[in-house]
Amino acid sequence: MINSYSSTNRRSSSAFGHNRSRRTSRYSSGSWGGGGRARRRNPYRGDFISHEMYVSRATDTTTSQENMYERQMTFSDFKLNPKLLKNISAHNYIHPTKIQAQVIAPILEGRDIIGQAATGSGKTAAFLIPIINALLNDPAKKCLVVAPTRELVKQIQTEFRLFAQNTFINDVLIVGGASYSTQIRLLKRNHQFIIATPGRLIDLYKRQNVILEDFDIIVLDEVDQMLDMGFIHDVKLIISKLKSTRQSLFFSATMASKIKEIANSLLRNPVTFELTQQVAVKNVDQNVVKVDSSKGKIETLHELLIKTEFQRVLVFSRTKRGADEVALALRKKGHKADALHGNKSLGQRTKILSMFKRDEIDILVATDVASRGIDVPDISHVINYDEPATYMDYIHRIGRTGRIGKKGCALTFI
Ligand code: AMP
Repeated sequence: MINSYSSTNRRSSSAFGHNRSRRTSRYSSGSWGGGGRARRRNPYRGDFISHEMYVSRATDTTTSQENMYERQMTFSDFKLNPKLLKNISAHNYIHPTKIQAQVIAPILEGRDIIGQAATGSGKTAAFLIPIINALLNDPAKKCLVVAPTRELVKQIQTEFRLFAQNTFINDVLIVGGASYSTQIRLLKRNHQFIIATPGRLIDLYKRQNVILEDFDIIVLDEVDQMLDMGFIHDVKLIISKLKSTRQSLFFSATMASKIKEIANSLLRNPVTFELTQQVAVKNVDQNVVKVDSSKGKIETLHELLIKTEFQRVLVFSRTKRGADEVALALRKKGHKADALHGNKSLGQRTKILSMFKRDEIDILVATDVASRGIDVPDISHVINYDEPATYMDYIHRIGRTGRIGKKGCALTFI
């Protein structure tokens, strides 16, 4: 038996019932499933996720913050270009995170990297910092970063521009759903850094607007997601066209056999590192909410959202249509909510995300794919309105709250 979080309980969100030895806790709305059955078929992919896996108390955030950083190190310990160091400190990065401490030096040395990277671990800066250093030291060098979604690609560009400020390194963003002519015009300009989603990159390669053989450094980010999204042939094609003397950096949350096969075809004597997903979500309080069928899911969600501690909330829906329906139902109840999914245009998605960041929307209802790479600070709660298909999806979802060193909260409707 597990104690669930009650939507009608007016106590603070820290009031989680974790004492599994008691039949009901003060905070519990009862048991689920009858007889303490802890496994059931996931509704839409046939995976089994134990509901107990959705329940965990956050460890002390000061502790997890300690775990996240290498506090005995600072960025000036790396031999970095002074302009870059200045931009890093202007961005208030003082100590490197664990991944950064592990990979920056080998990347600076030109080594290949294969990393099982946790969400929210500081992975983006771990590859951007040494890459920008290399591009600054050699203006003839070029780097290509390939990532699964437009949001992630945009986010990488934003972080790139913070660190590459005042350095004259030009970047080009290549994503589907945006104008070809603008991208082609930018590609004709002198540029050292391209960030792309696989589909549009291949399109532009076939039209000879991008020469894949030109790149000295290649980064494949969130490879597991690229494969899940059906990009395997695009990824293989990209790899097959790269120059043989390239440096390759490879990041994936999982290392399934197909992913290893791609890694082997890309990498040469790579430095390997692994940060388990669990490390990244130790600072997230996790619990289940048992939905009372007489009340329904929307009402249960509404009762949670009116609580003061639910300030900036990311709600996960299984389908695009479901996301639209939940957002609409919440708006009807007076919430500032909108939906984010793959059927929205790039312009709409960018606008919705920036409204969420500016608090013009405080509830974002998203599908898994659309949420990849969302890095919105201070998301107080992630709510799994629909259960995730896999435990890895669950980890990705809840990694959107409790970003580096902050405590987050994740609730899953069952
Ligand atoms: P990522 O895992 O790359 O998505 O990074 C998660 C968040 O941590 C982003 O908002 C980064 O800006 C932030 N971050 C990454 N590295 C550091 C650092 N060394 N110091 C402070 N914040 C960081």
